[in-house]
Amino acid sequence: MVEASPPAVGERPREGAGRRRARVVLHVDMDAFFASVEVLDDPRLLGRPVVVGGTGPRGVVAACTYEARVFGVRSAMPMAEARRRCPEAVVLPGRYTRYAEVSGALHLRLGQVTPLVEGIGLDEAFLDVSGACRDTGDGRSLAEALRARIADDLGLACSVGVGRSKLVAKLASVAAKPTVQGAMVLPGPGVVAVEPEEEAGFLRPLPVRALWGVGPATGRRLERLGVRTVADLADLPQGTLERAVGPTAGRLLAGLARGEDQRPVVADRRAKSVGQEETFARDLVDPTVLHRRLVRLVDAATRSLRRAGYAARTVTVKVRFGDFTQVTRSRTLAEPADTPHVLGTVAAELLDEVATRRGVRLLGVSLSGFAGADRARQLRLSLGTGAAERVTVGTPPNAPEAWSAVAAAVDDIRTRFGDAAVVPATLAGSDGGGARRRGEAQWGPSGDGGAGRAEGRGA
Ligand SMILES: [Mg+2]
Repeated sequence: MVEASPPAVGERPREGAGRRRARVVLHVDMDAFFASVEVLDDPRLLGRPVVVGGTGPRGVVAACTYEARVFGVRSAMPMAEARRRCPEAVVLPGRYTRYAEVSGALHLRLGQVTPLVEGIGLDEAFLDVSGACRDTGDGRSLAEALRARIADDLGLACSVGVGRSKLVAKLASVAAKPTVQGAMVLPGPGVVAVEPEEEAGFLRPLPVRALWGVGPATGRRLERLGVRTVADLADLPQGTLERAVGPTAGRLLAGLARGEDQRPVVADRRAKSVGQEETFARDLVDPTVLHRRLVRLVDAATRSLRRAGYAARTVTVKVRFGDFTQVTRSRTLAEPADTPHVLGTVAAELLDEVATRRGVRLLGVSLSGFAGADRARQLRLSLGTGAAERVTVGTPPNAPEAWSAVAAAVDDIRTRFGDAAVVPATLAGSDGGGARRRGEAQWGPSGDGGAGRAEGRGA
């Protein structure tokens, strides 16, 4: 990864200080992400073909395990087709909020490698580690350490590509993936690092469609010129290429074929909020019912918040009426909080400020103004130790730190026994009980009439 720049006139070449290194970009891509999270949460699924996506008649596959890929199941395939190819598949509707939570945990770890993290969706990111490499070694060892950390901390596999551009890093991560051959799943190398001098050899055999910017239309035009691989493209006279696809695209493609890609890694606008909202089957008028729904939304939103390792200062309640007009009410607290008790009290007061008599179609709550979990933990400690011991059954605790302990315990129980194990007291026995099931209907309705989709991203 080290590339020495020629010494300037009159300057003696020095080891280290005078060197200029090539950019080092990592592309981290979780393997079969949604499906792997399902297997993680339910070990009985281990080794089975698991397909996540819309379970209704018009649903599509969002993700599937490699065991399902053996049967020819692929993402974006109609679910009906997936079921036909693999009747024994375990088909799950997907839990978007859970995936967002895991994504938050992933991004916390990526952010510890470098602040230059550009997330793509929930389970992919580019990292510019040029700076980190200067301090701690080469891209490959960084990638291997990161991959091991993700496996240890999250229990999930990812593939990492290393290159001096986004293009090469992305293609390298594809090469690092497990593959399916016949009825077998072959583990991939996990990390593929393409050194600058290996770029041409790595890129040339790839299909030209692997290059970004080659969509189906351009692909067809190139095919007419006999261009199938990156090598074909690189060897095409530039004039011929520009006549076929236009001068701008032609120049871009010729560059990409030579591995030239200057696109920078653009650090994320961090997640700005986590939230939950629900669209009701019928407009709701009764404030008691609305407050009960709110409790459920707050409960789910604060859980996302805690799992992502955040505390929030701002609470926003959104109310959309039957005629689609909408109001929002926000309040910012002096100190960040992460418990349903503190944030839910604010949310309830905000809801009280809204006249709901004309019927509420949608209710939402979002939490923003994040501080790291460390800040929340510090606050908890500064409020006193031994919070957990002070929580006794039958005596509702009131101090915020006690509520933090309760919230953490509830998260624990739910992780072990499922969402229905613990529900807020206000919900127990009311309209079917259960904690809000989150994220259904993400890939087409699964048959639950009223529930809208959960929204929110961990980080
Ligand atoms: Mg992925």
